[in-house]
Amino acid sequence: MPTPLPRPAAGESITRDWASFKPAKPEFEVAVIGGGSAGYAAARTAAALGAKTVVIEGGEQMAGLCILRGCMPSKTLLESAHRWHEINRAREFCLVVKPVKVDMKCIQQRKRHLIDGFAAYRRKQLKGGKFALVRGKASFLDPNTVAVTSGRKQELVTASSFIIATGSVIPRVAIPGLWETGCWTSDEALETKEIPKRLAVLGGGIVAVELGQFFARAGSKTTILQRSERLVRGYDPDVTTELERAFKAEKIDVRTGVRILEVSRKGKGKRIIYERGRKREDIVVDEILYAMGRVPALEGLTLGHAGIELKNGRLRVNEEMASSAPHIFGAGDSVGPYEVVHIAIQQGETAARNAVNFVRGAHQVPEKMDYRLKTLVTFTDPEIALVGLTESEAKEQGLDVLTASYPFNDHGKAMIGGHEFGFVKIIAEKTRGEILGAEIIGPHASDLIHELIAVMRYRGTVRELATMPHYHPTLAEIVTYPAEEIADQIAPECVPEHVLKHI
Ligand SMILES: Cc1cc2nc3c(=O)[nH]c(=O)nc-3n(C[C@H](O)[C@H](O)[C@H](O)COP(=O)(O)OP(=O)(O)OC[C@H]3O[C@@H](n4cnc5c(N)ncnc54)[C@H](O)[C@@H]3O)c2cc1C
Repeated sequence: MPTPLPRPAAGESITRDWASFKPAKPEFEVAVIGGGSAGYAAARTAAALGAKTVVIEGGEQMAGLCILRGCMPSKTLLESAHRWHEINRAREFCLVVKPVKVDMKCIQQRKRHLIDGFAAYRRKQLKGGKFALVRGKASFLDPNTVAVTSGRKQELVTASSFIIATGSVIPRVAIPGLWETGCWTSDEALETKEIPKRLAVLGGGIVAVELGQFFARAGSKTTILQRSERLVRGYDPDVTTELERAFKAEKIDVRTGVRILEVSRKGKGKRIIYERGRKREDIVVDEILYAMGRVPALEGLTLGHAGIELKNGRLRVNEEMASSAPHIFGAGDSVGPYEVVHIAIQQGETAARNAVNFVRGAHQVPEKMDYRLKTLVTFTDPEIALVGLTESEAKEQGLDVLTASYPFNDHGKAMIGGHEFGFVKIIAEKTRGEILGAEIIGPHASDLIHELIAVMRYRGTVRELATMPHYHPTLAEIVTYPAEEIADQIAPECVPEHVLKHI
């Protein structure tokens, strides 16, 4: 167990002279700071390798962002909104339904029930005994020691290596009048039982468009104010333009190229003054959702005491997830560059394996993170998913690529489902036709993308994908059409022997 410290006397500062309590040899081989997706994955991996491991978790509730205030609560809310939207299209499928009402109280109860279950499971995993668990906020005293503070209680944890997986927080960006006037962040938006009549969403990233569409479908007149010219960074322009088209069809007002100048009260409402091009415009709404991103949660860790350097507010790590102090690693939102769960888990596992090897002096080649198969999903309707390189990224890298797209509104199964928006796009290298990336905007994009991930994992080609059996009629068949279009442009002599025999 970590070294307990004598209780401070009344009025005494809880920061003490730690040197006298420090054991000669670190107690743990690996200490993981943060018990969210990245931290839990790291601890589980280090413990499975036989390393004496501890997790330090300082949140009021234990389970991490994804379960408590991120992926799972947001997807629960979106599920209700998307079903509501589908039911409202019932006449198109010759069904007569009674008028549908959104019951926010019930949606919140359902969410709470699900989240409580997920969180209880994660707590059980954290307390399962495979590694030690210490509750409290960690801050470095020296490169091998952290003080863990919980209320007035403090204890020391010493370790030969650390993995920082402290996640991210919402920054209070300085927009004149915003915080004084009051606004929601995703935390409040996910808890609300009220649907504002008029809602402005500041930001156009994944959280902004997902929650923006949720409120629009639940009944808010929604306006998205986005600084850059396009919604959701990271996808190709044809993809984001298609999302804007879908949003426009459901009367979500998307205003891009906007710079927020000031926020103030106006009667019972909230007024946002912004600049668009050279024009000054304003909008009055009942609620504002601030969704302009998150920043790494590194405050209070006193990283300077551990000799760690930051770069632009981020923990700087190499491909091995090691920081500027070789025994301290990072994973998840605290390091980026992609703030999503499956990458946080992969980074946590990589950091853990490298930390254990480091501690044990094993002369193994360190494991490196590989973002070749980076996958991003936006759970709007239509969903957007991508894997690997976008067309723009491939071109920026000077790669000679072929691309092809196929729309859902020309695909039998999608037409039966009444899906009007979206397409599948494949980006392949020119000589062999190896698939380098794919983007899907459309129904079930978050699931369909996994076929592309599997093909790319094994460095498959467009011809291999096109000749793979696909059941008919399914949405999945659609991926074969752009694959075939590209395959037709590649000389057969460039095709591997085992694929040629299927043609
Ligand atoms: C609204 C929303 C929706 C999202 N939807 C998705 C989605 O659909 N799919 C997806 O992949 N991603 C989604 N994300 C992102 C995803 O939730 C995060 O990328 C992921 O949870 C990050 O995991 P993490 O382990 O890095 O951080 P966290 O899960 O935040 O864990 C960090 C932990 O560290 C603890 N901690 C912090 N500082 C200290 C300290 N000093 N001492 C001790 N403990 C500390 C915290 O209490 C916390 O438990 C969403 C995010 C939001 C906000």
